[in-house]
Amino acid sequence: MAALEPVCAACAKRENACALGIDVGGTSIKAGLLTCTGEVLATAKVPTGRIVGQEAFKKIAQGLSGLVERAGRVAEDVVAVGLDVPGPVDDRGNVGMLANIELDPDGLCMALRDAFPEATLAFVNDANAAALGELWRGSAKGVDSFVMVTLGTGVGGGVVVGGRLVPGAFGAGGEIGHMTVVKEGEGRTCGCGRHGCLEQYASAKGLVWLYRDECARRSCAPVALAHETDALAVFDALRAGDACADAAVSRMCEHLGYALAQVSTIIDPAVYLVGGGVAGAFDLYAERLSASFRAHCLAPSSATRILPCSLGNDAGMYGVAYEALRQAGLA
Ligand SMILES: [Zn+2]
Repeated sequence: MAALEPVCAACAKRENACALGIDVGGTSIKAGLLTCTGEVLATAKVPTGRIVGQEAFKKIAQGLSGLVERAGRVAEDVVAVGLDVPGPVDDRGNVGMLANIELDPDGLCMALRDAFPEATLAFVNDANAAALGELWRGSAKGVDSFVMVTLGTGVGGGVVVGGRLVPGAFGAGGEIGHMTVVKEGEGRTCGCGRHGCLEQYASAKGLVWLYRDECARRSCAPVALAHETDALAVFDALRAGDACADAAVSRMCEHLGYALAQVSTIIDPAVYLVGGGVAGAFDLYAERLSASFRAHCLAPSSATRILPCSLGNDAGMYGVAYEALRQAGLA
């Protein structure tokens, strides 16, 4: 695998070398300026609206230039710019269809090239970016084969084997959320158009659905839920001793443990990292998730550890900066 600490002629020449890690959201970007070893120098959030057209690109370039300036650097010090996008990116860095945001990747690239002429640009899928971030600076530091599972509105995955990300030939590598865990036709319909995907049972939305399902089965009134993805309310109910919440979390762990056991038959990673909003309550279900995984996996894989992520929402920012630095030959 690539060395984690960059040792490179370009760095030695340019002592202020730094990288931008940019989280591209639907209506804003969140950016961090990092040193080549991953120390954060400054961060900024830039509201963008739709990321199409010159006006939006200009706003982004200005916001980023301000960030670089605040950190006492100049545009030429920026040697790498990584962008984290919520959609597929193939192994050549091409951005595929983005379902949830409006973004013109080519236009944005051109604007960033103008603003930071020395920088290598890299796009990375958000779940993969988070995995790379954890590899560089988080829970997976020093672990060269691991799989990250992000439990949020949906379920994302990032696969790292031998220190390298596995994006897949078509950008669909690590789409663990769409593993079939309930047989076709019997499972819940998924946003991908198939049935019984893990995402329908282990995301925040999935957990809320399981909770409501348990309440209906037992004729219990559910606790107040603020919205369809209010997994925190289900975890609070579990803490308060709610039997339906307890059963729902167990069913979530059963599906997730089963899915991870299938992944192990192919990758056999040393570690699974659990991240995303649902991971905030990791301690509440860590034991049952491990038990479910071990009940389903092949014997040799039972030594696999299941750990929480440590970088939270910043993982993507670190990960894209790392990938861009790596493509620039600096990490
Ligand atoms: Zn699906």
